[in-house]
Amino acid sequence: MGTEARCSRNWLVSSVAALVASAAAISFVASFGARAVAAEGDGASQSAIYGPGTPLPTKVGSELWAQLLEGNRRFVRGALTTRAVIGRREQLAHEDRPKIICLCCSDSRVPPELVFDQAIGDVYVVRTAGNVADAVALGSLEHAVEHLLGSLLVVLGHENCSIVAAAASGEPMPTPNLESIVKRIRPALATVDPASTGKDQIALKQVEANVQRSARALLEESPILHAAVGKGNLALYKGVVRIASGEVTRLK
Ligand SMILES: [Zn+2]
Repeated sequence: MGTEARCSRNWLVSSVAALVASAAAISFVASFGARAVAAEGDGASQSAIYGPGTPLPTKVGSELWAQLLEGNRRFVRGALTTRAVIGRREQLAHEDRPKIICLCCSDSRVPPELVFDQAIGDVYVVRTAGNVADAVALGSLEHAVEHLLGSLLVVLGHENCSIVAAAASGEPMPTPNLESIVKRIRPALATVDPASTGKDQIALKQVEANVQRSARALLEESPILHAAVGKGNLALYKGVVRIASGEVTRLK
């Protein structure tokens, strides 16, 4: 078989594989939607996933958030779940369908899979210093919403965030790359009331303000995320992790 014929055959094989994968994905989405709609008890007139006006997504979002908080309580107690990693890995070899998406800081002390005690395959994670929603982070989140069935998006900041402190210092950053991060954080800091008492309290409020700003950026700078939240297909939650206790507090 010549090169061209082999290429053509390879293309055909990969196209068929893609079609099979698409069919499997549609079937999975349909079955997830059917299960979810059935749980709501009003499935007759709904679309495969979420019909217009269906209260389901909010419910799914709050249920997923409750799942995360349960995991966080285990993390706080130091009682992480023991998991069958090899079996789960094999099960996930050909699919990535996390229902939870998380934008969080790259800080080594707050890996969301541990903070929320979740398994591989449970959470699609985008991590940037200061949980800033730059173009690459937004594109990564859009990918998750468009292709990976995400139903809950969590923006997660944390106490004692060094890049937020660097932004708050007002000092120029040594590189344009670092400057691009603090540029996204500084407008949030302007909203913090300087009358707040105590250095730690101000620092925490700055972290909270930065989480709020990132969450707003998701809606203002990404039509895909804005539409998903607007249609009720994606619930947006915000939280902050306390470093020493590990506890996550939800921000309204
Ligand atoms: Zn941080």
